[in-house]
Parts: sequence; structure tokens; C-alpha cells
Amino acid sequence: DSDALPNPEVITRLNAMFALPLERLQVIVKQIISDMKTGLERDGGAIKMLPSFVTKRPSGREHGSYLAIDFGGTNLRVCELVLNGHSSEPQLLQSKFQISDNVKTGSGAALFDFIAECVRSFFQTHHALDAHDWNSKRWQLGFTFSFPVDQISIKAGTLITWTKGFTATNVIDRDSVRLLEDAFERMNLNIEVTALVNDTTGTLISHAFQNPDTYAGVILGTGSNCAYVEKFANITKFRGPPPPPGTTEMLINMEWGGFDDAQVVIPRTKYDLLLDRNTPTPGCYTFEQLISGMYIGEIVRLVILDLARTGDVFAKATIVARSPLHKQYGFETSYMSRIERDHSFDLADVKALLEDDEFEIVGATLADRKIIKAVCEMVGLRSARLAAAGVCAVVTKMNKLNGCTVGIDGSLFEKYPHYPNRMRDAMREILGISSENISLEQAKDGSGQGAGLIAALAAEAA
Ligand code: ADP
Repeated sequence: DSDALPNPEVITRLNAMFALPLERLQVIVKQIISDMKTGLERDGGAIKMLPSFVTKRPSGREHGSYLAIDFGGTNLRVCELVLNGHSSEPQLLQSKFQISDNVKTGSGAALFDFIAECVRSFFQTHHALDAHDWNSKRWQLGFTFSFPVDQISIKAGTLITWTKGFTATNVIDRDSVRLLEDAFERMNLNIEVTALVNDTTGTLISHAFQNPDTYAGVILGTGSNCAYVEKFANITKFRGPPPPPGTTEMLINMEWGGFDDAQVVIPRTKYDLLLDRNTPTPGCYTFEQLISGMYIGEIVRLVILDLARTGDVFAKATIVARSPLHKQYGFETSYMSRIERDHSFDLADVKALLEDDEFEIVGATLADRKIIKAVCEMVGLRSARLAAAGVCAVVTKMNKLNGCTVGIDGSLFEKYPHYPNRMRDAMREILGISSENISLEQAKDGSGQGAGLIAALAAEAA
């Protein structure tokens, strides 16, 4: 029955485009390691390898109350982290706010005002009943600003370029901490930013607080990136103020999203190229585009539209003009999760999604639904295999094949079915039996708790 079975030629053709066989993964891993080495020696490479100025991992003895802001993707979080040393578990209070497109693409001043506004709202929620004025004490805050930042100290750094669809004006090349503190002043908030942090370093530090064997932090959310522990002596390009005497290591924020922007190592499909052309910054962070939550749903959408054009799907179906399938980013990555989770014989939930819940596509056949699911599998699998290649490169570079933990935060790792196992399978292919020494663990509240901890470490050092 042609309505039930997808055309095998279509599946084969797509598979050939999206597959990443072991030999290709091995080339990718080698190239990442080579680019990491270059990036530690000089600026300007595809992987930026940004020094974080974080030179210590937590001991568990940290104490005090610190604020943290997590900004850099879909949501903004404001947290207060209360650390009691070894005597009790840390406490985390938090409020979450959605970041609108207006904030992402308006003026820089409006963007930082929005952040300050969120902090004020956090206080109103969590400290409204305080006996004395919460604003009478000077708070210390760790600011997670998850973009490529050229850091000149633990609490100062300039934005190199926006990513993830942000374009706010007058922020690039300015000190992000200064901009935030100015906004706090405009709002009469008594807060000092004592640490400027990337979500990857935050994730690493916060997971290391739970598990001291943690040597890398990975983000698989709106964007994708990784931080890891590097020997300080290897960071030969380092030119900041000298770190405290006795420093042996420093976390490096890789900014691996920019890997292979020259597009020579990873095979690109015409859909990847089309997606990239329609971003505000074509040619930038194209590795991230193949992996992260902001983009992979869009890749699936572009494939489906192309298959619909050639009659390989929806030949007998109608798609209303207002269907989100026709809109850029109209196919959310969470739908891929939902589709891959449907194991029913007739893909009943995929049918509900396509017809009723979202896309208003009438008359899709079971064969159509199977093709859509296969496309999600291919794009999701490619993402997991590339993330795995990145982790393999990092662990190899650190000489940690004999064992370490990688803390991973983000909706893809947490919510996308099979994603962790697909990563582990690819790591097994690449590293063989050694892969069993590497444990991939879900990091919880990574960037909030991490930024608070880094603020605490900075306070200890000061
Ligand atoms: P952050 O913005 O801090 O990275 P997340 O880790 O939640 O936050 O990542 C958000 C991204 O994850 C969005 O791009 C969204 O499309 C995607 N996403 C949200 N839910 C799911 C899901 N269930 N499966 C896969 N991707 C998801």
C-alpha cells in the first residue's frame, strides 16, 4: 500500500546526505583537536578557545549568598544561591522570564534594562516580606552571558559577536559588565557584578560542585558549546593580568559553535546552506547550526518543504497557507522530540501534530508521517553524533581517556528521546572501549548555580 510505505529511494537519498559514518567522525575529531591547539596559541581561529579567568574548581567549602543571572538563549533566569559550606545543601531561589524578539533585536540599552527589570522582579517575588530593605546590602552577582566574550578579567569582557539570533545594537566591543552595572544604576539596584561567566563554564563548575571528577561542561540547548579544564601552561596566547601564584589550570570556553565555519570537514546539505543564508550572520557558527535546538527543527522544516515541492511527501495532502510550516523557524525542535517519541503503529500522535495541533495539514498519509519521522531521526542523530565528536575531541585533548565526567545541560540532552544514547553510541564507535570511562551526566541548574559559585570563588580570591 503506497499510502502506508514511504518511497525507499527518498529515505536512501536523505540518509546519504545526513549520515556521518565513523571515518568522517574521526576526521572531525582530529580537526577539532588541531583547532583547539591552534586556538590556545593565537586569536582568530575557527574555535576561539576563550580564557575564562576561572582558575579554581569548587571545594564544597564555599559560603555566602550570591545572585546569578543566566542570559543567552530562550529564557532569562535570575537566581539567588545560598552556600553553607559543607554544613548543608546549597539553596537556590529563582525566577524565569522569557526573552522576547524585541529584546533580542532592539537596542542594547533596552536589552540591559530588561535584564535589570527581571532582577527587580525577582526581588519583589522572593524578598517582598524581608524585615529590612533588601536593597540596603550590596549584592555580589555572577553574570552568565552566553555569547563569545573576549574576557580581560574575571569581571570584565567585551562581546565579540552576537549568536543565536541576537542583534541588539551598541553591545559588540563593549564591556558587558559595565553595560549591566549601568542598567542596575539606572534602576537603583545595589548590585556589583563580580564574575562574568559563560554558561559552559557555569555548567562545569556547578557539576564539579556535585562531582569533583567533572572536567568539561557542555551545552546542548538553544545553542551548543563546551568548556573544559586546560593546563594553564598550554594557554600560550594568554595575555591578561597574571593569575594567582600557584595557578595550574584555567577553564577554557571553547566556543565550538564556530568549528568548521570554512565548511571543509563536515558535509553540508543544501538545507544547512539555506538555513545559514537566512540567519543574521551567514557563515558564522555553522557547527552550532547542525547541532542545537534553535536550528535543527528549522532544518527539518526545510527538508519537509522541499520534499513537499517535489511531491515526495504530502502529494495528496493540503497545507493551509497560514501553516507554521511556511514560516521560518515554524517547526520547533520540541516537535522532533514529540515525533520521535511516537512509537505507535500508525504514528497517531504525529498525525495529531500535523493535522490538528499545529500544522493544519489535511490528508497526510501514513507514508508521509513515516518520512517526516525518518527526517527527524536523521537530523537528530547527526546532531548527537557531532556533539559526541566534540566531547571525544575534548576528552582526548585533556588526556582523560582513563576517566572523567562531562556535565551536560540543555533541552536536547535532557528531553530529546534517545539523544544521550546516540551520543554514547557514537563515542563508543570513536573511542572504543575507553568511551566507557567517560560519563555523560545531566547537569541541573548548571548556569544559575555555576555563576553563583564562580562569584563565590571570585570573592574568596579577592
Ligand atoms: P537555553 O536557552 O538556556 O539553552 P534550553 O536548554 O531549554 O535553554 O534550550 C532551548 C532550546 O531547546 C530551544 O531551541 C527549543 O527549541 C529546544 N527544546 C525545547 N524543548 C525541547 C524538547 N522537548 N526536545 C528538543 N528540543 C527542545
